[in-house]
Amino acid sequence: MLGVMKRPMGELELIDRIREGAGRRGGAGVALGIGDDCAILRLPKGHELLVTTDLSLEGRHFRREWHPAESVGHRALARGLSDLAAMGAKPLAAFLSLGLPREMMASRAGLRWVDGFLRGLGWLAEEVGVPLAGGDTSEAAGEQVLADIVLVGSTPRGRSLRRSGGEPGDLLYVTGTLGGSAMELAELRDGRRRRSGEHPHLYPAPRVGVGLALVRRRLASAAIDLSDGLSTDLGHLCRESRVGAEVWEERLPVTAGANLEEALHGGEDYELLFAAPAKVRVPRSIGGVAVTAIGRLVPGRAVWMVGPDGMRKALRPRGWEHFGGSRAKAPGSRAGKPR
Ligand SMILES: [Mg+2]
Repeated sequence: MLGVMKRPMGELELIDRIREGAGRRGGAGVALGIGDDCAILRLPKGHELLVTTDLSLEGRHFRREWHPAESVGHRALARGLSDLAAMGAKPLAAFLSLGLPREMMASRAGLRWVDGFLRGLGWLAEEVGVPLAGGDTSEAAGEQVLADIVLVGSTPRGRSLRRSGGEPGDLLYVTGTLGGSAMELAELRDGRRRRSGEHPHLYPAPRVGVGLALVRRRLASAAIDLSDGLSTDLGHLCRESRVGAEVWEERLPVTAGANLEEALHGGEDYELLFAAPAKVRVPRSIGGVAVTAIGRLVPGRAVWMVGPDGMRKALRPRGWEHFGGSRAKAPGSRAGKPR
């Protein structure tokens, strides 16, 4: 039969593909990688470990008809790297667990998909210098792909960035531009062709270097990554810091072509949002990534948007809500994204 292999790919074969596909680059932090019962990591002297896990589910976080396999692999790794970046951690090692539907493990098209996934993941892993040090594979019970990524990083002891350190009066900054991911996703959903060669949704760039610089130069009082949308993630930072905030609409770095709704609530831009005391001189760019002041932390607990006319209105969290089943309703936004 066309496109069907004589036998399904076995688990060992899959592990070999992972080993090959995801790059062989070892890292200084990995004493023993794929091939034994455990990986062995080495922590730099005086550092502590940071661990984050991210689940990517087909139909929820990606769709095979919209997202090329390379993008799914890239994004799975990017989400974890962005969490490490948010805390200023240096990535040490990544672990990948894959659940694949039976039909995928038995067809050439399925194999090509897995190779594409590993290629996309491998490109980013190589770029950031994080080795894939282990993982697990299984045939999925259903028809959908499941990828779970664990990322381990390190910071000098006690120096990681937290959501909780912000104080009233601190200025708020974001890296890069906002809204590009939601805009590109809407284009994918509607089958529109993208005019620019940039792919903020399919291939977001986690801000690992910026996070490291914020720790090294002691610039930030609090930080978070923008995975769920500015309105939602700023709310998380404010809650943990026990402060309110105002966002200056005119200062928001909206991606060219995106709208304000996408910039505020779209999510998945994987930029960093951080606070810094007003007296700290924050550079306009860090490692080639633009850094823009967009507002400040204020006493109280409310989050405000200040319009060009100086009028304040409440900025309510309308980004992605975990376990909510769907995005919170956002009138005027391009809804319906798989998360
Ligand atoms: Mg995060």
